[in-house]
Amino acid sequence: MLLQNVFLKINITMSKLRFDVVRDAFNKKPVKPTMPKGRPADYFAMNVFNREKMFKYLSSDIYAKLIDVIDNGASLDVSIADGVAEGMKRWAIENGATHYTHWFHPLTETTAEKHDAFVEHDGKGGVIEKFSGKLLVQQEPDASSFPNGGIRSTFEARGYSAWDPTSPAFLIGDTLCVPTIFISYTGEALDYKAPLLKAIRAVDKAATDVCHYFDKSVKKVNTYLGWEQEYFLVDEDMALARPDLQMTGRTLMGHDSAKNQQLDDHYFGSIPERVAAFMTDLEVEALKLGIPAKTCHNEVAPNQFELAPIYEECNLAVDHNMIIMSLMKVVARKHGFIVLLHEKPFKGVNGSGKHNNWSLGTDNGTLLMAPGKTDKENLRFITFVVNTLAAIYRHNGLLKASIMSATNAHRLGANEAPPAIISSFLGSQLSSVLDHMETTDDVVKILSKRELRLNIPQIPELLIDNTDRNRTSPFAFTGNRFEFRAVGSEANCASAMIALNAAMAEQLVIFKNEVDALIEGGATKENALVKVLRKYIKYSKPIRFDGNGYSDEWKAEAALRGLDCESSAPVVFDRYLDKASIEMFAKTEVMSETELKARNEIKWEMYTKKVQIEARVLGDLALNHIVPTAMKYQSSLLDNIIKMETVLGKEEGDRYSAENIATVKEIATHVSEIKRMVNAMVECRKVANRITIEREKAIAYHDTVAPMLEAIRVHVDKLELIVDNELWTLPKYRELLFIC
Ligand code: ADP
Ligand code: MG
Repeated sequence: MLLQNVFLKINITMSKLRFDVVRDAFNKKPVKPTMPKGRPADYFAMNVFNREKMFKYLSSDIYAKLIDVIDNGASLDVSIADGVAEGMKRWAIENGATHYTHWFHPLTETTAEKHDAFVEHDGKGGVIEKFSGKLLVQQEPDASSFPNGGIRSTFEARGYSAWDPTSPAFLIGDTLCVPTIFISYTGEALDYKAPLLKAIRAVDKAATDVCHYFDKSVKKVNTYLGWEQEYFLVDEDMALARPDLQMTGRTLMGHDSAKNQQLDDHYFGSIPERVAAFMTDLEVEALKLGIPAKTCHNEVAPNQFELAPIYEECNLAVDHNMIIMSLMKVVARKHGFIVLLHEKPFKGVNGSGKHNNWSLGTDNGTLLMAPGKTDKENLRFITFVVNTLAAIYRHNGLLKASIMSATNAHRLGANEAPPAIISSFLGSQLSSVLDHMETTDDVVKILSKRELRLNIPQIPELLIDNTDRNRTSPFAFTGNRFEFRAVGSEANCASAMIALNAAMAEQLVIFKNEVDALIEGGATKENALVKVLRKYIKYSKPIRFDGNGYSDEWKAEAALRGLDCESSAPVVFDRYLDKASIEMFAKTEVMSETELKARNEIKWEMYTKKVQIEARVLGDLALNHIVPTAMKYQSSLLDNIIKMETVLGKEEGDRYSAENIATVKEIATHVSEIKRMVNAMVECRKVANRITIEREKAIAYHDTVAPMLEAIRVHVDKLELIVDNELWTLPKYRELLFIC
């Protein structure tokens, strides 16, 4: 009797916990955003050591030298470092800074920082605030615990971070953050930024050379990136009651709610008040850090949202995306939310991506992937589009590898996201232009020395036509840029941008060599260009696909076309070590074979660890939350059945209890299946853990452990439908996704 009471009490507290949490979440009021004084233009970049501040805080000589480094890629004259550090420090301290940090992107998908105070002994028993050029330019974070793929063994854990002057320092709270690259003592990159800067440089050089066919005055080609960041918000208290969200960033269990996104009522719908307040705060903080936040809206799934700034130079845009992802987490907490950046936090509703809008543009303001007014401009436009197609066709497997991860794998290939096959959508107008060029012999007509006629269908200046957009394409042309849609919401954009820019740089060099050879052989420049373009239009045809990328027919067709259709994440990573990839990265000087191999070790290890953590969390939840809850309900049913028998007699009692008896059996089946499979999953892990080669271990996790997560979940989700709602401890989808 006593025991029964205790159980009853626990039941009430447990179930009350969920109901309290849900009710409290429902009743929460919006937190008032903190608005700075003035208008956005007044506080934009107030926390950034940008040109305006450089001009104010640096001597004119040092300012000029630094700008030359930033704008023209001049090499850094270390003698200016002391002056820059002094100016930076003065600005930072005036704005409340007490610490500084080198801020870098290790290979973990987040950023790293180690804060040091400005204070140093002054030799007279007191302290002074100091920040020297030496500290600005280079530091040695104790980096032994960052992933390095075996490049550095832990006993000689030296790696160093080095200042990236092309991305301005910024202030977060009391800390001056200096963007840096992170490399080993032997020079190998241990981060995303170092190879990104190299890829940007490679494509700059190759594209500038190709631009000279059209415009001799071009000095530099910039890479642009405009990312669109999707994310979910979940009430913080409800998220706290879900250990799976806490530990893995996604729900490992949870039955679909009756209503999810089928009414399409969330996309662009009115933004809930609490979320609107969060967005305002986030936007203000972003603007203060010089991030040109522009668009905020609801996304397709319930509680899913998007933030997009105006596009920027690629290296800066990548940094800004990394800052935004950390900023979101902080601002979300202020508003009582947890932000979910995972690509697939909820089964059955859309996952989150990070569209990477990518383009190239010259220093004199021409977007190279935008159609122009004249035939000459259009030939340039077609040149860059066709070379892009050739680059992504040649390296389609690698591009997929660049966006693949344990978390993004849940999204790719599902029925609402780009498939795990890279293809490119051009739209009917551009496709017909390329088709015409491919099949018509007299494309170029030179009317006079100055005038050229292209015998191709009219290219409208404005190709951005929303009706012609294809949301199922992983790499779509959208008027003046390509939109790489397969990038994961949690990922560092740099991974995709390194592969894409390096592949483009390689292709542009090949293209130019071929055109030059024809010109040397006596062809006119235009004829040479068109001839080589025709070759690459033909070559890249298999990558062009304007149809429905989600359909099964496309999967079959893509395989026939020879596109990479592999979907197992650890096997997809192999593409980095293909001969063609190694050569491409070597030629463009973006990454060496050693670096590629080391980075793949990290990718495999990360994959394994992520699945391993999920398996542990699911095992724990299943055995310690789900099974006991289900058995409690089962006991109450049994209790009822026995009481019915006692009161009504066995025959009549059992007749009335037939449904309950069936439910008792159903619960027993699910419970025993869960227990059996959790044990089997542990065994699979043990077997996989004995494998010492990272690639093989990751494959074992993919093939044997990951499928069990899904199989166990099926039974848990069934139980959620059966068990008394009052006993169920974990907030359900209908609560997590609909209350904010
Ligand atoms: P949609 O959701 O329709 O794809 P958005 O307007 O939300 O478009 O986002 C488009 C993103 O593309 C923005 O970040 C925008 O600044 C960026 N963008 C626009 N033009 C270019 C370009 N030429 N190069 C790179 N990014 C661009
Ligand atoms: Mg988009």
